[in-house]
Amino acid sequence: MKIEKIMVIGAGQMGSGIAQVCAAAGYEVILNDLTDDHLDRGMTGIQKNLSRQVSKGKLAEEELNTTLNKLTVSTDIADAKECDLIIEAAVENMEIKSRIFKQLDEWAPTHAILASNTSSLPITEIAASTNRPEKVIGMHFMNPVPVMKLVEIIRGLATADEVYEEIEAVTHRLKKVPVEVNDFPGFVSNRVLMPMINEAIFTLYEGVAEKEAIDEVMKLGMNHPMGPLTLADFIGLDTCLYIMETLHEGFGDDKYRPCPLLRKYVKAGWLGKKTGRGFYEYN
Ligand code: NAD
Repeated sequence: MKIEKIMVIGAGQMGSGIAQVCAAAGYEVILNDLTDDHLDRGMTGIQKNLSRQVSKGKLAEEELNTTLNKLTVSTDIADAKECDLIIEAAVENMEIKSRIFKQLDEWAPTHAILASNTSSLPITEIAASTNRPEKVIGMHFMNPVPVMKLVEIIRGLATADEVYEEIEAVTHRLKKVPVEVNDFPGFVSNRVLMPMINEAIFTLYEGVAEKEAIDEVMKLGMNHPMGPLTLADFIGLDTCLYIMETLHEGFGDDKYRPCPLLRKYVKAGWLGKKTGRGFYEYN
């Protein structure tokens, strides 16, 4: 099967990045979200990102235009009927994802592959909301998408080998590195990363150190490029909480309980960089 047209569901920080790299690789891309406002924000982000690359001399002006010309926007999920691959990057919530996949199963052509960029939710369960579980797969990009090389590719219980191979080929065309993992909560990346972030939030909550000190210890002491609290702000504190809840519920182990301070920040709407305030403040 030849993949020519891709729909990306969700124009947030991940969806807009995924749409950008797909368009830059020469695919026709439809970026979908609930409202025109969300789509405007997503497209503005893509334009800014590409313009920054032009001003740094990393991209020619005409490549910017070619990439933008590959992108269209839509608020109608029925537009999936034109696509060979749909990559879902809406919020990290099983109910919402299942609903989206059920609709995609209705609209997308029978040959189309349905992929989710979920950070932690079971692909097998997402697939079960469709009548084509063999064509459902996890395609977990890292943030920021245009910069980060890794894509974790997650096989659900029923994912067909040829679907895996097709997605591996797409990942290479996006100039990313695919790594195959099996379907367990948090996969590899967030099973290892998120408990560390949650523990950093506990150290803040328990007054072990100030936020800047916690980040500095992990940067200078462990050679991490950014501290865990800064990273949590970049990921989005709502996403971090959803992932911890998935690990907690999926393994039934209290070592994954989300820190109460993380819950409090999310309830306050302090979701990190995307809302202007998380552990730190952003303009
Ligand atoms: P975000 O909050 O920035 O964006 C989510 C977008 O999805 C919003 O624009 C929202 O309007 C849209 N949306 C919600 N319901 C929708 C629907 N029914 N149809 C169409 N659009 C809908 O979130 P994000 O950080 O981009 O995360 C998106 C997904 O990517 C989540 O599953 C998350 O776990 C995963 N992810 C996030 C990161 C990260 O670092 N933030 C990394 C890898 C994967």
